[in-house]
Amino acid sequence: MNIESAQSQRPLPNDQDASGRNLGERELVYLKEAIASGTLTSTKGRFVKALERSFAEMLGVKHAYACSSGSAAVHCAIAGLDLEPGDEVVTSPITDMGALAPIIYQGAIPVFADVDPQTLNVTAKTIAAKLSDRTKAIVVTHLFGTPCEMTEIEAHAAERNIPIVEDCAQAFLATHRDRYVGTIGKIGAFSLQQGKHVTTGEGGIVVTNDDDLARRIFLFINKAWGYGDASPDHYFLALNYRMSELQGAVGLAQLEKLERAVERRVLLASILTKWLDGCPGLSAPISPADARSVYWRYAVRVDPAVFPGGPQAFARRLKDKSILTAPRYIQKPAFECAVIRDQRTFGKSRWPFTLARPDAVNYEREHYPGVYKGLDGVLVIPWNDRLSIGDVEYIARSMIGTARELRVSA
Ligand SMILES: *Cc1c(COP(=O)(O)O)cnc(C)c1O
Repeated sequence: MNIESAQSQRPLPNDQDASGRNLGERELVYLKEAIASGTLTSTKGRFVKALERSFAEMLGVKHAYACSSGSAAVHCAIAGLDLEPGDEVVTSPITDMGALAPIIYQGAIPVFADVDPQTLNVTAKTIAAKLSDRTKAIVVTHLFGTPCEMTEIEAHAAERNIPIVEDCAQAFLATHRDRYVGTIGKIGAFSLQQGKHVTTGEGGIVVTNDDDLARRIFLFINKAWGYGDASPDHYFLALNYRMSELQGAVGLAQLEKLERAVERRVLLASILTKWLDGCPGLSAPISPADARSVYWRYAVRVDPAVFPGGPQAFARRLKDKSILTAPRYIQKPAFECAVIRDQRTFGKSRWPFTLARPDAVNYEREHYPGVYKGLDGVLVIPWNDRLSIGDVEYIARSMIGTARELRVSA
């Protein structure tokens, strides 16, 4: 097999600019209408409302509310549950900080479950190990677009009457047993940030089938002001987390492209998976039975026992071939970041961590074998729907070539 030289290969499409994004005429048409209307706030305009309606319809869910970011979406979900200070929220340490900061802002304690080293997702077993009588919510992250194994997680949660929040920032239209993620738990949170499946630059969406939660989420986005009520008030503590009509216009156009974008990502991933099949030391991403991953990223396992230097060495070689990958995905689990490790929260108070059970903030390495093994062996390949089949073949050949080189030099 011939390995193409880096020189012959144009740069791969990148989701941080036009090469890897599908933004165009449709967005401009809606944007023009929004601008011409003179109404840029979602409290009066039509686009954010239309985006919310379309998204709810697409997922078959009762309520969808747009907000200013994926972090805001998770914050809405946590605030919607109306936790008490010191309540515990079991979640993943391999996620975006935007999924964790909201827990702390609401005075709750993030309690970190270990993950499956293959998928880097939390499991029923790792969650169960962290449940206590103070657990008031579980936040699952469908990392890289691959659904968590939800059946058992749901069973555990239902048994103890603990609501599940699904962080679907990376998992638009992913399914588990024919249900869209985000509609399996009580609340789903999505991100429209630049690097996600569809984008408004910054933005988020929260979904739920629960009317009472929906009401609280709506209020939380709107300074808890009771719009339309007989005698409205600011009912509780909340910020302005609204999305603007400009984002709503772009978001509505992007949503029309979502299903095709997802299908394309899935198709391209299946091609790379076929290529990698049977390449010793490399394992394609796996999903639970009856689940559909939507490949936010293509996370391949690089066995450090087969390749000296592991994913890092692999990434360096791929970089020479103009393929920029992320070994480890994140450098360290969330609990090693200063905000959590040193409890840097409000002034010097360390609140709400001052309320935590010692066990809930015990981050010793031995409790997280899956986290460390998972991070040490993962290589994250950027993925998007603008990749051509030729691009994917180039990535595949480069990976197979790199595997051969690294194995030989061992
Ligand atoms: C991107 C992301 C977030 C945060 O979304 P923002 O829009 O960047 O605030 C939260 N969770 C996960 C898993 C993400 O990938």
